[in-house]
Amino acid sequence: MKNIVLFGPPGAGKGTQADFLKTLYHLIHISTGDVFRNNIKGNTALGLLAKSYMDKGDLVPDKVTIDMLKDEVDKHPHAKGFIFDGFPRTSSQATALDNFLNAKGTPISAMIALEVPEQLLVERLLNRGLTSGRPDDQDEAKIRNRFNEYETKTAILVDYYSAQHKFIGINGVGSIEEITDRLRKAIDSL
Ligand code: AMP
Repeated sequence: MKNIVLFGPPGAGKGTQADFLKTLYHLIHISTGDVFRNNIKGNTALGLLAKSYMDKGDLVPDKVTIDMLKDEVDKHPHAKGFIFDGFPRTSSQATALDNFLNAKGTPISAMIALEVPEQLLVERLLNRGLTSGRPDDQDEAKIRNRFNEYETKTAILVDYYSAQHKFIGINGVGSIEEITDRLRKAIDSL
């Protein structure tokens, strides 16, 4: 069983790459951002709450996010493994994920980080905003706030997984195929 945390700042290409990897390795892809967006579309209470944070580029509170993530994992009792995309984003989330998966006897195999310089990330996000319809991709101030959230709350998780010898850094600049190739090499080495 392979449980992979696909990590990186907004715009690093996590969602794009997860789409390929889930097919290649028969893994369940859980994007917490997508689950929130589906809840917003469905007008659920969770969606309404999440929207108030997401529209500003702030992180949704841990408790809500962690409970939601656990529910998503539990929907797939026969999964061969998971790709976590956009989760964990804080230390509490990382600890909760470890506790949850370790109790199931299926720990995280690796945290694979897509490394991309910030200026390229801004360009990618603004470009995506032209077609994604995501309010948080269309405004440079919101994008900067998302980076700030990443720098202050999320980037530290590199240390968390390094301490467990599970961190793998990947160059996230290049064509989609080149990056998929780098990721495959990393995953095949696990
Ligand atoms: P993403 O689709 O991963 O870029 O996430 C979009 C937005 O959803 C983020 O800016 C947060 O507001 C929210 N979000 C997604 N995942 C998380 C998470 N693990 N913790 C807190 N907020 C999250």
